[in-house]
Amino acid sequence: MPTPSSDDAFAEVKAKVDLVKVVQEHVRLTKRNKDFWGLCPFHQEDSPSFKVNPQMQSWYCFGCERSGDVFTFVELIEKTDKRGALQLLAERAGVELKKLSPEQKVRSDSRKRLLAMLKLAAQFYEYVLWSTPAGEPGRKLLASRQVKEETARRFQIGYDPAGRGFADYLRAKKRSLADAQEAGLLRRDGTDFFAERVVIPIRDERGQPLAFTARTVRQDEQRKYINSPETDLYVKGRVIFGLDLARDEIARRGHAVLMEGQFDVITAHGAGIQNAVASSGTALTDDQVRLLKRFTDELLLVFDADRAGRQAAQKAVLLAAGHQMRTRVATVEGAKDPDEFLRAAGDDAAKQWEELATKAPSGFEFGMEEAAAGLNLSNANHVELAARRLREWIAQFPTALQEEYRERAKRWMGVSGHLLAAEPDGRRNSGRPNTPKVGKNGLETPAVGKKMTVGRYLLQLLAVRPVAFDRVRTKITPDELDEEDRGIYVRMLETYERGGVLGLEKELAGYPAEEQDLIRRAWAAPPPNVDEDVAVELAERIKLDRMKGRHSGIIRELSEAERGKDSERVARLEAEARELARAIADMERRG
Ligand SMILES: [Zn+2]
Repeated sequence: MPTPSSDDAFAEVKAKVDLVKVVQEHVRLTKRNKDFWGLCPFHQEDSPSFKVNPQMQSWYCFGCERSGDVFTFVELIEKTDKRGALQLLAERAGVELKKLSPEQKVRSDSRKRLLAMLKLAAQFYEYVLWSTPAGEPGRKLLASRQVKEETARRFQIGYDPAGRGFADYLRAKKRSLADAQEAGLLRRDGTDFFAERVVIPIRDERGQPLAFTARTVRQDEQRKYINSPETDLYVKGRVIFGLDLARDEIARRGHAVLMEGQFDVITAHGAGIQNAVASSGTALTDDQVRLLKRFTDELLLVFDADRAGRQAAQKAVLLAAGHQMRTRVATVEGAKDPDEFLRAAGDDAAKQWEELATKAPSGFEFGMEEAAAGLNLSNANHVELAARRLREWIAQFPTALQEEYRERAKRWMGVSGHLLAAEPDGRRNSGRPNTPKVGKNGLETPAVGKKMTVGRYLLQLLAVRPVAFDRVRTKITPDELDEEDRGIYVRMLETYERGGVLGLEKELAGYPAEEQDLIRRAWAAPPPNVDEDVAVELAERIKLDRMKGRHSGIIRELSEAERGKDSERVARLEAEARELARAIADMERRG
């Protein structure tokens, strides 16, 4: 076989695969005239706007306007890159990508042998667990943790009996004991490494076992869990446990639920939370975040409730922010970890979970709450301490986010701005900060003169959650917004009225550059509370500011009218001012 260069390889693969067949594995297509139509797999829709052209071997979606050839399709659907798409399609087309050097060949062969061995081991353990009397201790352990057989089978959980069960099996099958030893399945003395343990395969995102983690069934065993050693195949910090099972649900829900332990994830899937994954035996790493980023832009972090878990959550928030991923943090109350929480909830688990997830603040907000935990924010000394912690928290985020986060922190705490400046200046002698008051959405007592920012906040929120327009547009009229915010607000509103929640993505390209920039930035790093109630509150705040401005204007006009002795005008302005003052007082009482 010739050795195609990369470009040739693309051409050769493209010539050998049929786009229609590849698409059909994911989308039900119907032929209309020369083209095939189906529901777009890349956006939510009810009527088909996804078209495949067999002549051109190209596809196009009229809904989300994505398009491309077979490589782009595979790239998007498999969440891989161009190289990955080429590899997948080459395998399928039987095209050999490049000749391997003898050393590469040895390495590639040994890799294949080890992978086959790990697969065989997983099958053996699973068989022992469910189909032999020797599996009894394993079945008991799973039952005590309320793991049902159906769930266990999805994770391919198994049991390794005492002694040399697996080693004997390999001998009987005439398979290489050396390979098994290399894969970390046997000890030097020939006994099973995982003997008397429930064995959980750690699989890559395609479902291939790379390693095992194993929990003892013995009461007297000190080491509860042991893991496969790291090998060329298995680097702990590069695998996400459960990703193979969770990837579709992650795509469907738009976010992944990231937990700490394997049993957290297994219990979560059993309770119907099928987008749950775990960092698996390590603090979250850069590589793991990059892997997750291929599948989603948002993580819901659910870590253990103790101090270590909360710290791990904060680290994960920062790590994810470094990769432009959004985070939210859910806290399990009254339980030490998600596993315990879900098991305690029993049949009610799905519902209680939903409540927990809905309440989860953004990662940034979670960190703010941690910074202020245990402090009394009506005590000026505590305010300063909280402000210092907030500054430290904000300073750990990518620079591009910091200014916005400072603004948010100001609003959240109601601290005067300079307390949160990047470099605290020593000239702070303009009196104590106002006694801050933190409201239910952290929106009370805005920093003085920052109403512009409230408008920006609202715009960002609407960019991320356009459906909030339904309520916001009944609360304010565009001319109540600051001039700088008005144009983009009206444009976004019109887009929403034309195209609904998906409109913005479609029409964004036609927006002025700086508006596009604002919207894209909001998508990449949404404001802390993407919530319709908050949107309404912001709109009311803007309206209130506008009314107060109008009120002071009238008062100025009034003195002018009084000087000019224009009694009719005075009376009219007085009435208007009274009415406004009443409306303002009303709004303030409600807010
Ligand atoms: Zn589409």
